[in-house]
Amino acid sequence: MANTMMALVKTEAKPGLTYKEVPIPKVGPGQIMIKILKTAICGTDLHIYKWDEWSARTVKTPQIIGHEFVGEVYKLGEGVESFEIGEIVSGEGHIICNRCRNCLAGRRHLCMNTTGVGVNRDGCFAEYLVIPAENVVRVAKGISLDVAAMFDALGNAVHSALKFDVTGEDILITGAGPIGIMSAIISRHCGAKKIAITDFNEYRLNLAKKAVPDIWAVDPRDMPLSELMKEMNMTEGFDVGLEMSGAERGFADMVESMNNGGRIALLGIHSGPTVINWDHVVFKGLNIMGIYGREMFETWYKMMAMLQTGLDVDGVITHRFDAKDFEKGFEVMKSGESGKVILTWA
Ligand code: NAD
Ligand code: ZN
Repeated sequence: MANTMMALVKTEAKPGLTYKEVPIPKVGPGQIMIKILKTAICGTDLHIYKWDEWSARTVKTPQIIGHEFVGEVYKLGEGVESFEIGEIVSGEGHIICNRCRNCLAGRRHLCMNTTGVGVNRDGCFAEYLVIPAENVVRVAKGISLDVAAMFDALGNAVHSALKFDVTGEDILITGAGPIGIMSAIISRHCGAKKIAITDFNEYRLNLAKKAVPDIWAVDPRDMPLSELMKEMNMTEGFDVGLEMSGAERGFADMVESMNNGGRIALLGIHSGPTVINWDHVVFKGLNIMGIYGREMFETWYKMMAMLQTGLDVDGVITHRFDAKDFEKGFEVMKSGESGKVILTWA
């Protein structure tokens, strides 16, 4: 085996990424080395690419970025017996401490000391990745590599959409990014009644309509939600809200349009403090739940099970590039005219 590999590295504290040769990481005890086949670009990677305030505060250079991947088990560290060489795997990008109260109670997604693959340690935009064996997840047979490459994001959608019962309920999703659209597909799969999704981006609204033909996909600047609800023959308000825009206006619209007793799963990350009308929260008795990452590993189990029973998220993937053409991938993500973008490594 060679000593070096190609990787996408944030070499310096400034915008951009460099495709360069770096040493192949070593596999320690309890770890697995994965040969990366495909990766997907996440909004977080775009933040790091652009080097915004959050990235500058969070990422230490030089660092390999990326956390959405599929690959094959390449090398087992000492003591790892649960996997075999060549198995197709993805993995949980949150590495936990296994010592804090939440970890010990099995609420691992709420670990106090989580570190992020591709954020706080080297990531998967590389030919090889080393992570703890407990983070490695076997990909069920029949699931395409492209879909497995975006399990991390699909898992965010599954975690959000399953947080509250959506069966027979009217659902509002604010933000038709890849995660918003996948949440709509999941809500439909799980028997939601009516589903509405909002965005300012026409390309993405169209992508949502293609993915879920009976969805109401609207630009709230053209059609306020009060009007949309009339159009949908709704008299009360949305039962379940999935906030996936990370925008103040998106969240405020949602809070305003919920039924009494409505439940909101809040995934979208706001860039600063957000003003909403708390009267709606109090007087409607809303239940707002923050969603972070994926439940380890219940979300992974449900995601795989739904994919094996007809959940079809292929349409969310709009672009595919070779890893060395990563710039094209980031450019199309920046343009907003994209769903998920896949990079092929091997
Ligand atoms: P994205 O940025 O691709 O999509 C967000 C969409 O919201 C965009 O299409 C944008 O046009 C739209 N939007 C902006 N303002 C709006 C408004 N007022 N009303 C309706 N839509 C509006 O993001 P994504 O990758 O789909 O992720 C969704 C959100 O979840 C992002 O905020 C992301 O940062 C966040 N996220 C959170 C976690 C977590 O663990 N909590 C994990 C991944 C992503
Ligand atoms: Zn912990």
